[in-house]
Amino acid sequence: MSDAIAGSLYVVATPIGNLDDLSPRAVKVLGEVALVAAEDTRHSARLMRHLGLSPAMISLHDYNEAARVDQLIERLARGDDVALISDAGTPLISDPGYVLVREVREAGFRVIPIPGACALVTALCAAGLPTDRFRFHGFLPAKGSGRRARLETLGAATETLVFYESPHRIRDTLADIAALWPERRLVLGRELTKTFETFLDGKASELLQRMEHDPDQARGEFVVMVEGGAERDGAAIDLDAETLLRSLLAEGVGVKQAAAVAARVLGGAKKQWYAALQQIKDAE
Ligand code: SAM
Repeated sequence: MSDAIAGSLYVVATPIGNLDDLSPRAVKVLGEVALVAAEDTRHSARLMRHLGLSPAMISLHDYNEAARVDQLIERLARGDDVALISDAGTPLISDPGYVLVREVREAGFRVIPIPGACALVTALCAAGLPTDRFRFHGFLPAKGSGRRARLETLGAATETLVFYESPHRIRDTLADIAALWPERRLVLGRELTKTFETFLDGKASELLQRMEHDPDQARGEFVVMVEGGAERDGAAIDLDAETLLRSLLAEGVGVKQAAAVAARVLGGAKKQWYAALQQIKDAE
């Protein structure tokens, strides 16, 4: 390591559509760093040209992130400042960068966030759904069975649920939500900050109908927001674990299946519930 003053890693948010959303601070940082690590350097070069900048760039994707870490840490050690950007919005939010940030911090260098656009916050602040508590789940699994299983695990959540979705899967996702939670209110934030920005509001089945009548509503990029499940009263959710386990056994449910039910309802590992059930059975 040279004795140059160590560089810093700037994590810089870029626009999700409207280029005016880039902050003056972000522009200053991008103009001053020695190197910009970007997801798609060709895509980001367009933004740099728009800003009149031509920084040195290096690609950093999910699949080469681990390999890039040493290289970038070496640059920081030499005293170079580095900026991390993604194709759009805030890096690390459903985008690469987590491994790099973790390793850079562990290596003792400064990581400086430069905040800006982020699709989930942009969508939530105009949706009119509760924002005091929300759960962001990024992209749902692409396959139908995986997607439905993931949605089912979220059924009891009382917070607003937030997902990212692509135009290829938006209808399938809405159909799954319509089947699972037919009465819940959804808000779709589409093409945020862009010319065709739209907020659609309604039950999943109603939104599907809207897309049926106007296929343009299924185009572009989406943030899907779903109202949380109803708060149940304390007595209903204060389920004591032993009562549940004993009831399952009394109803003739096998230990393996009962362990799976307990893990799903109460959380924790199936193995742990299997052992507890076995103990109850042995003591009987
Ligand atoms: N890092 C980004 C952020 O800060 O929001 C998200 C990157 S993720 C790979 C891309 C997804 O974000 C899109 O598929 C879409 O779900 C959502 N997204 C990004 N820009 C959007 C926009 N302008 N309108 C609606 N959703 C958007």
